[in-house]
Amino acid sequence: MACSGHGVAVAMRTAAKVLEEHRDELSRLDREIGDGDHGENMHRGFAALVTAMERDAPDSPGGVLKLVAMTLISKVGGAAGPLYGTAFLRAATAVKDTGELDAPTVAVALRAALDGVVARGKAERGDKTMVDALLPAVLAAESAAERGEDVPALLRAAADAAAEGADSTVLVLARKGRASYLGERSVGHMDPGARSTALLLRTFADVASG
Ligand code: ADP
Ligand code: MG
Ligand code: MG
Repeated sequence: MACSGHGVAVAMRTAAKVLEEHRDELSRLDREIGDGDHGENMHRGFAALVTAMERDAPDSPGGVLKLVAMTLISKVGGAAGPLYGTAFLRAATAVKDTGELDAPTVAVALRAALDGVVARGKAERGDKTMVDALLPAVLAAESAAERGEDVPALLRAAADAAAEGADSTVLVLARKGRASYLGERSVGHMDPGARSTALLLRTFADVASG
C-alpha cells in the first residue's frame, strides 16, 4: 500500500510521529558531537509537512516526495534540511509521474536520493554522516530489486542495512559536518543524521509491510 501516492503520504505522516517520538534521542546524539538540534530540526520539518499535506495532499508518489523536499528545504536549516531536501527532491524526479511505485522504481529513487546527498555534501562512506546509513540501504535495495523482491521486502532489507550502517558510525571519526570539528572526540557516538535516516527507512518499511 505504500506504493501509491496515498501510501507515500501515510508513510510521511507516520515518519512525522516517529520523529516526534525520537526527538529527544536525536537531539541527545547531536549534543554529543554537534549542536544538539537534530531532533528539533527533523521534528519541525515533518510537522510542517503534515500541516502542508492536510491543506493539499498531492495524489502521486512524486508529488508527495516533492512536497517533502520543498517543506524540508524551507523549514529546516542547518546541514540536514538541504541534505534531506535534496534527497527527497532527487527521489521525486526519479519516480517521474508514476502512479504506483514498484520495487525497481523504489531502488532507483533511493539511489537518486543518495546521489543527491553526496553531490551536495561530498561525504564518503565512513565519514560518519547520514551517507553511512543511506549508502548500504541503497545497495541492499538494489540487490532486493534484482532478486525480484516486492516493495515491503525491499524496504525491510534497506532498513536493516541502514540500521547496521548507523551503528557503524559509533566507532569512526567524523570527517564532515559539525562533528568533524571534534576530531578524535567524535569517536564513541552515533551520528544523529545516520540515526534519523535509519528511523525513516524503518518507518517506510513498517508502513509498506502493513
Ligand atoms: P547542523 O549540523 O547544521 O546542526 P543537523 O544537526 O540537523 O544540522 O544535522 C546534522 C547531520 O547532518 C549529521 O549528523 C550528519 O549526518 C549530516 N551531515 C552533516 N554534514 C554532512 C555532509 N557533508 N554530508 C552528509 N551528511 C552530513
Ligand atoms: Mg545539529
Ligand atoms: Mg544546527
